[in-house]
Amino acid sequence: MIAEVIVDIAAGETDRIYDYLCDDDTAVGSRVRAPFGGKIVPGFVMRVKENSELPKERLKKVLPCTDELPALTEECLVLANKMTARYRVPKALVLRLFLPTEMRTGKVRELLRNYAEAIVPISEMKIAKTAKNQLGAAEYLAENGKTDCAYLNNVYPGGVAGLEKKGYVKITKEQILRDPYKTVTGEKVERTLTPDQKRAVETIGTDERTVQLLHGVTGSGKTEIYLTLIAKCLQEGKSSIFLVPEISLTPQMLAQLRARFGKNAAILHSGLSAGERFDEWWRLRTGEAKIAIGARSAIFAPLENLGVIILDEEHDSSYSSETAPRYNTFDVAHMRAKTNGCKLVLGSATPSVDTYKRATEGEFSLIRLEKRINQRPLPEIVIADMRREVRRGNNSAFSSALKEELEKCLTADKQAILFLNRRGYSQTVICKECGYVAKCEACDVSLTYHRDEDCLKCHYCGAKYGMLSACPECGSIKLSYAGTGTQRIVSDLQKLYPRARILRMDNDTTSGKEGHYKILKTFAEKKADILVGTQMIAKGHDFPSVTLVGILDADMSLHFSDYRSGERTFQLITQVAGRSGRAGEAGKVVLQTFDPENDVLRYAIEYDYEGFYRNEISLRAAMAFPPFSKIVRVLVTGEDDKKTLEALREVYFALEKLYTDNAEKFLFFNKMRAPIKRIQNKFRYQVLMRLSDTSVLPEIYNVCAEARTRDVLVAVEENPANLS
Ligand code: ADP
Ligand code: ZN
Ligand code: ZN
Repeated sequence: MIAEVIVDIAAGETDRIYDYLCDDDTAVGSRVRAPFGGKIVPGFVMRVKENSELPKERLKKVLPCTDELPALTEECLVLANKMTARYRVPKALVLRLFLPTEMRTGKVRELLRNYAEAIVPISEMKIAKTAKNQLGAAEYLAENGKTDCAYLNNVYPGGVAGLEKKGYVKITKEQILRDPYKTVTGEKVERTLTPDQKRAVETIGTDERTVQLLHGVTGSGKTEIYLTLIAKCLQEGKSSIFLVPEISLTPQMLAQLRARFGKNAAILHSGLSAGERFDEWWRLRTGEAKIAIGARSAIFAPLENLGVIILDEEHDSSYSSETAPRYNTFDVAHMRAKTNGCKLVLGSATPSVDTYKRATEGEFSLIRLEKRINQRPLPEIVIADMRREVRRGNNSAFSSALKEELEKCLTADKQAILFLNRRGYSQTVICKECGYVAKCEACDVSLTYHRDEDCLKCHYCGAKYGMLSACPECGSIKLSYAGTGTQRIVSDLQKLYPRARILRMDNDTTSGKEGHYKILKTFAEKKADILVGTQMIAKGHDFPSVTLVGILDADMSLHFSDYRSGERTFQLITQVAGRSGRAGEAGKVVLQTFDPENDVLRYAIEYDYEGFYRNEISLRAAMAFPPFSKIVRVLVTGEDDKKTLEALREVYFALEKLYTDNAEKFLFFNKMRAPIKRIQNKFRYQVLMRLSDTSVLPEIYNVCAEARTRDVLVAVEENPANLS
């Protein structure tokens, strides 16, 4: 037989099918080892056929791997084909998404252990009275059956070996599945669904549209709905994929899933060890586990017969991949849902503007959950005007309102979360007196300070402005462009409240697989009073004792130079605020800002998503920003500046031609250096486009696929979450 093989080398020039001779029982989707260019490289069988166009004697033979099942399912192959066509990247690169890295490189071995089992009744064993260890081991085996040799050797050194020599005991090797979340435990709780939850589950079951948007305020019981859907699938023998933005941040969710579904749930995420990942993946492949839980890459879980795909917190930016192939999780999930004829459930308290538009226009079904469980009120959000604080001489990071609430909270033995939004690599310039923010005249997005050139730049059109020495509105020289870091906040807090126990959670404090988990667990067990952290504390946590949330700098994200900064800010405030008052007691939120009249903040403190959306969508329409257009960035990066520039030139000329031939489809077209000119020794250039008509998109992908070389990466990003 002949196998059509994709060799696992991502370079563009090998991105084609090669014919090899293979064994007759070679299965489609299986891994093979293929002789290629004087080496043996891993490959995948895409198709098996009788004849090749090449003469048989010119074909080499592939060596099979010993997997019990083909690593790639049929659906994976279909999906991989679609993705290759959509994103124009080498197929080997796409196929890699479907397998744990360790499996491709062959670095993990299954964990094998020796087990001893008696094969002769103990009464028939002839053991000398003095051979204490043999006697002990024999008795243990008679009582307990098959046992791990490591244990027996520990207690009865040499005993098993002696018994084996006499033929009384058989030793076998067995695979041990590593359990990555032994320490994550929780109680199994079955809840009766509220009428709202029941209605949601029913709608998802009966509505014919593939995509179902669950728009429910924080604490409205969306998780319970997901679990019910998954349980229903399990009953019908179907599998499910459950995606969350950052799985390491949601140990409570994992605990719930483990408690409810036990071994049926497999967890896929990058924090696991190689062996653990391999085991979890394989349990899904064999069908032993039917529920895949993970961050975006779990959308490639090797499950067959899918019953539902769930994207929790669908608005989260972690759902778009920033490494090649730059896929969008929603798109892939949508493809899989359609192939399987199953539902794709999106859940959020603050859907992305794009998703919500599609839902209100009827493309997606829209299910609303307007109340929290048990009618618990949403916490009250009060605004602390930081301009007034500065005028009163308070230059600290804490407003008087926040300090007052913190004291009340600590006295009442409750817990507080303080949130600090530190994102981006350089800051916006803001006037501490009047709240003025430097903005681009053409784009209405805030400018970003670039230290190296000492100027302000617009990341959308490339316009440069001189650095300000005073505020153009009020003349004050109190301009600030430095945010205070979490570490500083913690030390300031400790001075204010010497007896408070304070925890910090950010990228610096959360190393290791269970780094987040430990911090969150400490906090959940009330071994700390205040948790200070970045975005990562905004998501999904359910701490019943938290009655106060402080948002220290709401403006930081508001003025981030991105057309979505309003959307992001609204989402962030709603998410963080949602951490407060989740159990009996009413919660409170103090939101500190230099811009208290801002529309986005106004809608956020009223929890008025509809109002926010109407305002935002009309702004987007007026500025022709997505979803009324598509921003496309072609990013050209390489270590050699000259080669990178050459590639850029080639890309630019081809795109420019496309632009001149289709000018009516472009709202904007320009090339420039990327805002960050060099990252990890790679020079970066970009061509930025805004399309009113996406029919030219496939051609853009083609241009880039052709310009890609061994040394220069050419990537296409659609509505990139990050324009650095
Ligand atoms: P969301 O995901 O919408 O933010 P959760 O699913 O976390 O909301 O639910 C909020 C709280 O309500 C949780 O503490 C959860 O245990 C509880 N809860 C959810 N559904 C029910 C129910 N049907 N009966 C009782 N409590 C519930
Ligand atoms: Zn000013
Ligand atoms: Zn601009």
